[in-house]
Amino acid sequence: FSLEQGPLLRLALVRLADRSHICWLSVHHIVNDWVSFQTFWRELAVLYDAFSSGRAPRLPELPAQYSDFAAWQREWMSGEVLKDYLDWWQQQLEGFPRFLDLPEDRPRPASGTAKGGRLPVRMDSRLTDELRALAQREGATRFMVVMALCATLFHRLSGQERIVVGTLNANRNRPEIEPVFGYFLTQLPFPIDLSGDPPFRELLARVRKVALGAYAHQELPFGKLVEAMQPERDLSRQPLVQTLVQLLDAQTAFAGEMSELQLQPFEVEDDNARYDVMIALYEFEHAIGGPLEYNADVFDATTAGRMLDLLYCTTEAAVKDPGARLSELPAFSEAARQQVLVEWNDTWVPALTSAGEPETVVELFAAQAARTPAAVAWSGDGWSLDYARLDERSNRLARRLRRLGVGPGELVGIYLERTAELPVTLLGTLKSGAAYLPLDLAHPAERRAFMLEEARPVVVLTQEHLLSGLPEGTRTLLLDAGSDPLADESGEPIASGADPEDRAYVIYTSGSTGRPKGVEIPHRTLANFVRAMRRLYTVGEGDAMPAITTIAFDLSVPELYLPMLGGGTTPLLTRETAADGVLLARALDAVHATVLQATPATYRQMLEAGWAGRPEMLLLCGAEAMSRDLADRLLPLGRGLWNFYGPTETTVWSTAWRVEAEGPISVGRPIANTRIYLLDSRFSPVPLGSIGEVCIGGEGVARGYFRRPELTAERFVPDPLSGEPGARLYRTGDLARYRPGGLLEYSGRADHQVKLRGFRIELGEIEARLRQVPGVSEAVVLLREDRPGDQRLTAYLAVG
Ligand code: AMP
Ligand code: MG
Repeated sequence: FSLEQGPLLRLALVRLADRSHICWLSVHHIVNDWVSFQTFWRELAVLYDAFSSGRAPRLPELPAQYSDFAAWQREWMSGEVLKDYLDWWQQQLEGFPRFLDLPEDRPRPASGTAKGGRLPVRMDSRLTDELRALAQREGATRFMVVMALCATLFHRLSGQERIVVGTLNANRNRPEIEPVFGYFLTQLPFPIDLSGDPPFRELLARVRKVALGAYAHQELPFGKLVEAMQPERDLSRQPLVQTLVQLLDAQTAFAGEMSELQLQPFEVEDDNARYDVMIALYEFEHAIGGPLEYNADVFDATTAGRMLDLLYCTTEAAVKDPGARLSELPAFSEAARQQVLVEWNDTWVPALTSAGEPETVVELFAAQAARTPAAVAWSGDGWSLDYARLDERSNRLARRLRRLGVGPGELVGIYLERTAELPVTLLGTLKSGAAYLPLDLAHPAERRAFMLEEARPVVVLTQEHLLSGLPEGTRTLLLDAGSDPLADESGEPIASGADPEDRAYVIYTSGSTGRPKGVEIPHRTLANFVRAMRRLYTVGEGDAMPAITTIAFDLSVPELYLPMLGGGTTPLLTRETAADGVLLARALDAVHATVLQATPATYRQMLEAGWAGRPEMLLLCGAEAMSRDLADRLLPLGRGLWNFYGPTETTVWSTAWRVEAEGPISVGRPIANTRIYLLDSRFSPVPLGSIGEVCIGGEGVARGYFRRPELTAERFVPDPLSGEPGARLYRTGDLARYRPGGLLEYSGRADHQVKLRGFRIELGEIEARLRQVPGVSEAVVLLREDRPGDQRLTAYLAVG
């Protein structure tokens, strides 16, 4: 259509047979609307009858023309009236987000018209009757019921509690404009508040109130509202309203009787999408139906199909029990529920392979040392430690610790350079029955002091030259003081006396309130982790897996245990080597590494340093989001690549994915004896494909935070879904969603925790500390990446 020149209406008649035609009418929306169409067919019938019987047509005189309406509207909808209308609408929309974020399958094209897809919606006569009965009982219109159902659907899909859904309204509430041909229609944004988990009945009452208010203020042209609200400019999305819901009366819509002629609607394929999702229904005598039209640029047909399934389930449940709260309405069809909650979490493997099989890492190590006593367990610059010697020396240390009063339930601090004593202290502590508390050489002294004061280890294993880094009065055992402090102890095996539920280690991570928090990992979960990893990859005799991570970070756990529990070698690399891409790449060749675990940041560093890979090496990656680009660069450099995901609170890793050459990056599926649930803020599962908080259950879940019962209760909560008595879930604060097939896709954080070179940082912790600095009144910290790869923490301070 050319709006300057017209015509804005075209009509064609296609003859299919003598008595069968298609009448094809194409009109620009600027000159017509729904009511105009009905008027058109009605008047056409009058004209046709008159023409075919040779009479003069008799159409009623029009009391007004569209231009009269336009002139009147322009004059009336101005000044005070316009202001009142705008004020009213803006007040209604206050606090409602500008966008409804439905879970998209693909990134949105920047702008332009969207390709559309359509699915037929159909509610049969039983459901239609029930829906009508519900509307009647609740004093609402059927449209209001449909709107409340669709709002529930959009709320479930998006996780948003306040959403704006559009509808179209005839806007012809003066008799003189009833028969006028033209565009009167207005788009009404319905701001629907679904917060507080109301019963469906209550939501319906809210929708009713919104609708009545909106109808009473429908005269405001939508464009004026958009102008006034100045919503964020995003050319790829409709302003204010991205979804549309409508229910029209099919009787008036399709009725058309002319003498000698029968009219029937004819479906026209239309491949545009005006909205992200449009549910445009008609009410027939015994059914409700119509298209669900979706934006096919961003949604797959299967996704739209799932939306529709969910609409049906929601409708069934709501008409059956309108007293049910929104969280009690189903998020899945029964089949999808079984698949997502049960099948995709079916990771159970026996925690003990058979009676008598070693259980804790201490027992696993003893068995391995007996199998390969002479093999090199650990190596470093100019030293190596075989299995027998490591076993023997850690027995001595365990005895020494016992004499210092250490045993099950106690903690031993480890504050050491990366020397041959490091593995001895880890194993020796575990053999004594105690748990270790790693202290990082690179941390500020205050942080160490805080940890020591809170955790109160019986003793700290350290070296003479490091003493100045520990608070005055710390009880220490120096491992390098003149003569060997373990010389007098027996190297015979010692029973640890630890229970699988006793702590194995306590690792501190950043805390949002300004205080780091210690995660307590028992022997049982550590052992499960080791076994779970061994099902995915093994580090056995002939393998070398270098240790490059500080032991204060639980990423170190696989490096520390997998080789030495499997007969492999752990080359212990220095901090300087691990931090430098060139040195690290060189070291991997020098130690003949066959397995490497590192963060995406470390891999990037190596790639920048020109690392060409090692074909015999398995690459393990985790702790931060992997990108497709990084995956593509790494895949050719080794014999395989894994992406691992997990927080310290569920023992290192909870999901794993063997990276594939094509398709979106995933964090995979839960590892052995692990369950993943994606939950909403009410702790109900989100629909398949929607983003939810990752909540982790199963064997990996930590005991909690050391000496922080309230924080523990907040993040470690009873598991309502597994049906296992006493089971708990850890709420990670991570967001993710399922891809069809059950692969998990990580989609960021629900809070202000960030990762910087793999290190977990609560920005709130830094902000809290900055506010304590005299003169600083407010502080905000951001992780900025102004240039790709150049991440910096940036603090903004208000002084005074
Ligand atoms: P940490 O407790 O230090 O291991 O940090 C755990 C957090 O790191 C998780 O909650 C995620 O936010 C993030 N994370 C770990 N692994 C991955 C991964 N493979 N992809 C994306 N984020 C990850
Ligand atoms: Mg981790």
